[in-house]
Amino acid sequence: MSLRVLDRVDFPALFDTLGDDGYTIMGPTVRDHAIVYDEIGGVDDLPIGWTDEQEAGEYRLRRRDDQALFGYAVGQHSWKKLLFPPRTTLFQVERNNGSLQFVPNEVPDHRYAFLGVRACELAAIAIQDRVFLGSGAVDRTYEAERRDVFTVAINCMVAGGTCFCVSMGTGPRCTSGYDLVLTEIIDSERHEFVFEAGSEAGERVLSLLPGRAVTDADLGAVDRVVEGTAASMGRSMDLLGIKELLYENLEHPRWDEVAERCLSCTNCTLVCPTCFCSTTEDTVTLDGDSAQRSRRWDSCFTLDFSGLHGVPVRNTTKDRYRQWMTHKLASWYDQFGSSGCVGCGRCITWCPVGIDITEEVAAIRASHGAKA
Ligand code: SF4
Ligand code: SF4
Repeated sequence: MSLRVLDRVDFPALFDTLGDDGYTIMGPTVRDHAIVYDEIGGVDDLPIGWTDEQEAGEYRLRRRDDQALFGYAVGQHSWKKLLFPPRTTLFQVERNNGSLQFVPNEVPDHRYAFLGVRACELAAIAIQDRVFLGSGAVDRTYEAERRDVFTVAINCMVAGGTCFCVSMGTGPRCTSGYDLVLTEIIDSERHEFVFEAGSEAGERVLSLLPGRAVTDADLGAVDRVVEGTAASMGRSMDLLGIKELLYENLEHPRWDEVAERCLSCTNCTLVCPTCFCSTTEDTVTLDGDSAQRSRRWDSCFTLDFSGLHGVPVRNTTKDRYRQWMTHKLASWYDQFGSSGCVGCGRCITWCPVGIDITEEVAAIRASHGAKA
């Protein structure tokens, strides 16, 4: 696959080229004191010169001492909000002259280019592809949103305080699932981006960008960026025998301890890029002439979510936290052939009481080892 080096002054050409191809560019931008994903019109919309500080239950933006475009880790948004939107109309029903007319949901007509997709996020999209497209039934909404996405990925130049992609084998280097991948190289002498194509569509866009040929020194600089990020992971998780570990400890006292802190607020599931649970809701206009069925995100942390025949089967917070973590790290392997966690750290950062999935696993493992 082709490579090319773009100078910072030429970066707007990426926006021009994708715009000329009819893409709506979605990417990181600063809003409400956080870095979120939204439509961006140009380089100036990116979080230039910003970085983030993340810890369990903590997120703060602070200024970098340079003008890097991608010098931060992931925020609370993930690409899930675009591929599997928080609320989707499934169909509408209209009453017309005494008969009912069913109107299917419109197929989206936008073409998204995602700019700034991290390695852990590529892994999360691949997981949701398996869930929504490869599990026997195709989700039409997801399929329609996903079909034409052009992905510009990034090899991370910094790790967040709650990142652990290295131990999950998902990052920080992007290895597949992108059309283009870039690495930002910034120091006192240069501010450049090493691009590599990962698909035919990526090759075509790359061929339209200005820039120069890549040298061995550039590739060495890319390796140093990735190695530096890998070496500064905020956390790690030991995956050895994790499925069996959790299955063998369903009655571990740690579940009671974490349940004393957990608020069942659902934050962890909403920010998680792989969580996919939803519910359906029907709304009817007051005159009864029109009704709408919608799908909206739901969470295994709510009491109603496990309701069977009107009675919840996971009555306590302990039941629900255990369900979430054992699904992510154990039964997900049985269901989808991989971990349901990609190590992005969002559930740790955005948990209001700072519950940390890596710490919970380590605590169970420590006492399991002592018992053995
Ligand atoms: S683990 Fe944290 S984020 Fe998740 S439901 Fe409990 S309190 Fe909320
Ligand atoms: S479980 Fe937590 S760390 Fe793992 S993918 Fe979900 S939000 Fe990220």
